[in-house]
Amino acid sequence: MTHDPFPIPWYSSGIEHIWLPYTQMKTAAKPLPVVSTQGCRIKLADGRELIDGIASWWSACHGYNHPHILQAIETQLRAMPHVMFGGLVHEPALTLARRLSEIAPEGLNRVFFADSGSVAVEVALKIALQYWRNKGNSKKDRFICFKDGYHGDTLGAMSVSDPEKSLHKAFRNSIIKQYVLDIPHDEYGFAEFDSLLAGVHGNVAGLIIEPLVQGAGGMRFHSADILGEIYRIAKKHNILFIADEIATGFYRTGNLFACNEAGIAPDLMCIGKALTGGTITLAATLAREDIFAAFLSDNPDDAFMHGPTFMANPLACAAANAALDLFQLAVSGGQSSVKENASANCKLQTANWPMRIEAIESQLAKELEPCRALPGVIDVRVKGAIGVVQMEPSMDVRALRPKFVERGVWVRPFKDIIYLMPPLVITPEELGVLTEAVVSTLRDA
Ligand SMILES: *Cc1c(COP(=O)(O)O)cnc(C)c1O
Repeated sequence: MTHDPFPIPWYSSGIEHIWLPYTQMKTAAKPLPVVSTQGCRIKLADGRELIDGIASWWSACHGYNHPHILQAIETQLRAMPHVMFGGLVHEPALTLARRLSEIAPEGLNRVFFADSGSVAVEVALKIALQYWRNKGNSKKDRFICFKDGYHGDTLGAMSVSDPEKSLHKAFRNSIIKQYVLDIPHDEYGFAEFDSLLAGVHGNVAGLIIEPLVQGAGGMRFHSADILGEIYRIAKKHNILFIADEIATGFYRTGNLFACNEAGIAPDLMCIGKALTGGTITLAATLAREDIFAAFLSDNPDDAFMHGPTFMANPLACAAANAALDLFQLAVSGGQSSVKENASANCKLQTANWPMRIEAIESQLAKELEPCRALPGVIDVRVKGAIGVVQMEPSMDVRALRPKFVERGVWVRPFKDIIYLMPPLVITPEELGVLTEAVVSTLRDA
């Protein structure tokens, strides 16, 4: 037995019974026990504090323990922690559905709640399949998706993620085959993309894409022009356009939704991650009214057949409404107490969000730039509040993880990249600590 680095009873008695995500349990370093969070900081059991450079898998957009979100959850907890959503509805869910419809790209008017991003993707895929079936076309049963894409870990979501490079390689032979294409980047690429879609559209229900930024597949960017052109070609061939904004939504790329930068309105849109400010799991699939209308019929079989047990959990919806308050998004006229509460709880939050993201973007660009000159670095790129340093594929970036902890920051390099996606409320000083940790860790590597 090696020396126990964390002599805490719950840690040493529980660690032998837990199975961790994406982890080779035989060789991985022991996970760090956390006791609390606050603002942009994570406090470890041994008293150390880490500045969070990745906002708990990109979700904690308002920082941790924001008083306005905590208060909304506490109030909801006393009234009703949960009730089933079949045959029953409640204020937090209906208010949230209305507010999301108001802020979403034009026409996305119907909200189906799910309990995680992967499930929201499954819901979008199933809606697209059943949409065509309800319209009498059962041949459209495949999807177009992209290399380096990532849409979640469930079987359907895995099928539309990159089958070679993603986290899903091991399951390659057990998942439905989809059309996995390169994101076109020039005129030649678009012509090829167009003729591919012309050839297969008869059996394609939809196209799914992470707009502007492919996240877990490797943090690759494409321009708003490219996104707009992909949209135009998909629509031309009668293919539903599904935007997976689970990572990009809520200002991460600079606009409220990444689709806004291209001025496009998808047929279906998935959101999650930052939706509750990173406090409780909640995701949603938004649909255009004409998609929804294809499910209205006298035939019970035309109804959409999906319903998670904890769908639209009231605590999660209350948290999401509070997170939207902090973004000052579509605050309802009738609920001025919510509005007052939000601004009393958070003077900081009155800032202009696109401007704040721009400030993060230029600080990331300026302070990560020196990495370009360091050995092993192939590329440095920044989009909104996302900063990426791409390394040579031969480099073992995972080995750098403990070095970041030693420097007092929480950064998790994966594949061939080191990236920062901090809480959007991070101060310039805290962000400076993060970028300095990246630069000096690479310098010493
Ligand atoms: C994280 C993520 C998902 C999956 O969400 P979970 O809540 O982890 O199931 C799907 N799509 C994208 C783009 C994501 O970043």
